[in-house]
Amino acid sequence: MASPDLSYPPHQMLAHDLQLLRAPNPSAMTGPGTNTYVLGTHDVVVIDPGPAIGVHLSAILQAVPAGGRVSHILVTHSHLDHSALAPDLARETGAPVFGFGVSGSGRSAVMARLAARGAVLGGGEGADPSFCPDRMLRDGQRLRGQGWQLRAVWTPGHFGNHMCFVGGGRLFSGDHVMGWASSLVSPPDGDMGDYMASLRRLSRLRAGLCLPGHGAPFAQPRARILALMAHRQAREAEILAALGPNFVTLPDLCAQVYADVPTALQGAALRNLFAHVIDLHERGLIEPEGLLDPNTRFCRRPEPGALVSLSQAPDQS
Ligand SMILES: [Zn+2]
Repeated sequence: MASPDLSYPPHQMLAHDLQLLRAPNPSAMTGPGTNTYVLGTHDVVVIDPGPAIGVHLSAILQAVPAGGRVSHILVTHSHLDHSALAPDLARETGAPVFGFGVSGSGRSAVMARLAARGAVLGGGEGADPSFCPDRMLRDGQRLRGQGWQLRAVWTPGHFGNHMCFVGGGRLFSGDHVMGWASSLVSPPDGDMGDYMASLRRLSRLRAGLCLPGHGAPFAQPRARILALMAHRQAREAEILAALGPNFVTLPDLCAQVYADVPTALQGAALRNLFAHVIDLHERGLIEPEGLLDPNTRFCRRPEPGALVSLSQAPDQS
């Protein structure tokens, strides 16, 4: 994870029909702050209202062109830094809020199973428990307003209810694809298998400009998406290489595999590692010592060939 690019201004006219408003909530996890996009030249759609900060609400209302109104509010996912302002913005403008579903919706089967076990799993960082869209979006659903069209693409992985929005060569990527950092994938809201599958899907979309939830917009999203996939595949290879037949704890494994991560992000690294090991376990490559949770120790599963040769070994008795 690189340091955030603070060079882009808090309010930017990206095109004649597209404004970026950066919320004043910078942190190690949010980078320079959450990006809110205002799309349209008369009636507008607001993509990710952002955190519940009064001055940010005022900035969004001021960005609405004279004589126009907010017709749609889209939320990429229900992390508080993206969704918390949605009810206030809806109240001020009368616009409906669109999203995939409440927090906890869209989880994979394994994550739904693990979430049922509750606190031992950890996670849930920054989730918005009261998020409830007025209109639920389906994967592939098309949205149309005055002078704009977007297609919703369901992209679970960072969060089960995460959606990206594509249209006019632009990819509004939320927290799934960012230029300055890789995404937090923290079970049970985060799922590494889903995250990779969603990246693969996004890599096939045609878009020349990526408009992320944090950090500066950037061109050629496909190159970045492929780099993010390669980054996770490299981590996975490191995890498998570090694991042997003996059980090790996740913090010990993290110290080996995520040694390059700054201290402020070590907690996030541990959650990403947990997401990787769940995925590797799902694929039959590693084994937990007990129940699948962050306090369990893990080891590499013997190669299937090794099991076969053992079972076929001549009887020594
Ligand atoms: Zn998020």
